[in-house]
Amino acid sequence: MKEQEGVIKYQLNHTQQPINQPFPFTEINAWRTIAVRLDLIGQDPKRYDNIGFGNISQRINADSTQFIISGTQTGHIEQLCPEHYCLIVKAEPKQNHLESCGLCKPSSESLTHASVYGQSNAIQAVIHAHSPEIWKHTAALNLPHTTADIPYGTVEMATAVEQLFQSGRLAEISLFTMLGHEDGVVAFGRNMKEAAWELINYLALAIGIEQQGNNR
Ligand SMILES: [Zn+2]
Repeated sequence: MKEQEGVIKYQLNHTQQPINQPFPFTEINAWRTIAVRLDLIGQDPKRYDNIGFGNISQRINADSTQFIISGTQTGHIEQLCPEHYCLIVKAEPKQNHLESCGLCKPSSESLTHASVYGQSNAIQAVIHAHSPEIWKHTAALNLPHTTADIPYGTVEMATAVEQLFQSGRLAEISLFTMLGHEDGVVAFGRNMKEAAWELINYLALAIGIEQQGNNR
């Protein structure tokens, strides 16, 4: 059976109230809009049964374990408002558990974001995009990846992400694909720009491979 996008699989303890502390909004929201314009985040009747895809997150400050993430099912909106973001107050990816606060529930893939942040305090921003081009060319681009038997948003994914970091591959490249999640790509960085730049850089390389194929 085809996996359904957008379904929250983890145990969520969500408090439905406005985020009660200041958080960085302008930068994450601008980069999210760029991702929407590049079809890396969005909603499209021709893709995944018209369910919103992709999401973006950032630590609320450099030393915090808490992060903000775009809310679930916001893919159809090009420019989000602060109330479309959710604060992940506490994350325990290995226990399949998240605590959140906000007017929106967190994205169904928040557990994967949390497991990336858990690997290094230097990681400040994470983008989960859907890119058919990058995903399809995982092998040609020699990209680190989680295997096809690992579904998104699960404890198995959290463990697989940890193993990818331990393998050392993510020291040289800050992007991996999830072969068990159609078109799923995760990019991260020391700031929003770095995460977005890695993603766009690999999108260019993947499009280059496609275009070479077309010209043969
Ligand atoms: Zn996804």
